[in-house]
Amino acid sequence: MHKHSTVEVLGCSGSIGIPGQGTTSFLIDDDILIDAGTGLCELEFDRLEKIEHVILTHSHLDHICGLPFMVDTVGVGRNSPLKVYASKPTLDALKQHVFNHFIWPDFTRIPSADNPVMVYQEISPEQVLHFGKRQIQVVEVAHTVPAIGVFLFTPTGGWCFSGDTHQTDRLFDLINATKKVDYLFIEAAFPDKEKWLADLAKHLCPSLLFDELKKITVPGCEVWISHLKPKDRTLIEHELQQYPGAQPLRILSAGMTFTI
Ligand SMILES: [Zn+2]
Ligand SMILES: [Zn+2]
Repeated sequence: MHKHSTVEVLGCSGSIGIPGQGTTSFLIDDDILIDAGTGLCELEFDRLEKIEHVILTHSHLDHICGLPFMVDTVGVGRNSPLKVYASKPTLDALKQHVFNHFIWPDFTRIPSADNPVMVYQEISPEQVLHFGKRQIQVVEVAHTVPAIGVFLFTPTGGWCFSGDTHQTDRLFDLINATKKVDYLFIEAAFPDKEKWLADLAKHLCPSLLFDELKKITVPGCEVWISHLKPKDRTLIEHELQQYPGAQPLRILSAGMTFTI
């Protein structure tokens, strides 16, 4: 069957330091962006212009830092405002700490509050957003700040992105319940020697990830790993190769495209 949507990896690294591998940002088709990390900054102007919806998993800088530049670049001259979807705590953080007139202008009042170039759309965990035949559902995950994971469901399949998370159940419950997730993108930020740091920063390391993946009870879900910290990338990759599951874990890289 003809696949319905594409997910393009603009960035999926745990930080900077590897040219061409920016931080978290995924583009669904031409118009929906999931997170706006430094990977977004690689996108050409005419493709930035086509983005209508930006969904943010949480307020951390490696997931939002491209948004201020994007709205500055494509904002004025748009026919309709850019819609930024996030939970209330994430939106509050953006309003208070980023688009606050000090760090960056408040684009929800430019050129005027009646006709702004950007609008906030508050969403809450479990909410389903409809974009034509594409459905996006968000679920709560476990990070140091309120954070969500994102599901895309199309008529031909499904995709799931964990966002930044420590141990969590809801994400896997939905993967198992829907039986439609072809690809799971999930993080492994730290090597096992820094499990203490993964626990503290509420991220995953390979041993924690292996236990999380045991929660998947349905077949057909290909697992791709993101958010490796560049400093320990080789070590984390080696540890991921020790995965005892039936299918090997695959390392995500900017420039990859998946059809859903
Ligand atoms: Zn984070
Ligand atoms: Zn992150």
